[in-house]
Amino acid sequence: LVSRDFKPTPSVVDVDGVKIGNGSLIVMGGPCAVESRDQLMEAAQIVKAGGAQFLRGGAYKPRTSPYAFQGLEEEGLSYLAEARAATGLKIVTEVTEVAAVELVASYADMLQIGARNMQNFHLLKAVGRTGKPVLLKRGLSATIDEWLHAAEYIVNEGNYNVVLCERGIRTYEEYTRNTLDLSAVGALKHLSHLPVIVDPSHGTGKWHLVRPMSMAAVAAGADGLMIEVHPNPAEALSDGPQSLNPGNYMALMHDVQRLAEFL
Ligand code: PEP
Ligand code: MN
Repeated sequence: LVSRDFKPTPSVVDVDGVKIGNGSLIVMGGPCAVESRDQLMEAAQIVKAGGAQFLRGGAYKPRTSPYAFQGLEEEGLSYLAEARAATGLKIVTEVTEVAAVELVASYADMLQIGARNMQNFHLLKAVGRTGKPVLLKRGLSATIDEWLHAAEYIVNEGNYNVVLCERGIRTYEEYTRNTLDLSAVGALKHLSHLPVIVDPSHGTGKWHLVRPMSMAAVAAGADGLMIEVHPNPAEALSDGPQSLNPGNYMALMHDVQRLAEFL
């Protein structure tokens, strides 16, 4: 169902009026995690000012260590909804378990499936049944074929509103957190009709690589970007080293918008 053979024309995913895959560049910006009401409201104003369409932020955080900040859960979801009301930004946020799907879907405009859950097939079917737009991130060690099969699980429930997100894969390289596979953009466009966005924040793990890799992703034909932005990255509870500060975020938005207009 997700293949080009089945549907030759590119799909456009409509998230409450914001269209992904129709040729205009979509940006999802925001902190890794919703940390507090003040932090999220400040981040939302910055994200909005830069011209992004979506606010991202995890309320449920799938952390590598059980001792790391786990997220504010429903309290965090309520701050996201408040930030939407204040800015008009659409909300994309991760859901990590089947039991939380209904709750997260009641607050979010788009449900994010994180890299660690890309092959959680019960979760994929559950988000498929909501009919809500889904952002499906690539698994840490997933091939493109495995990733498309994961998307197939969602679409097979009747939910065609799936956007794929390349966020880097595990390789032997250690300087970068992951190796951002930009060839996946072209490969997915060739194999599938689904829109594709790129997350250079998790893809590189380093804030200074986010702008060049964003430019490369747009040049490669990505339909959008997911960018971690924090009012004060040094104080972030998660992923500070890869988060852009407000000034660097504004500079990135200026550059990617110019490039997108040129293309
Ligand atoms: C995220 O985007 O918040 C996240 C946890 O990313 P990933 O699942 O790609 O690691
Ligand atoms: Mn993060």
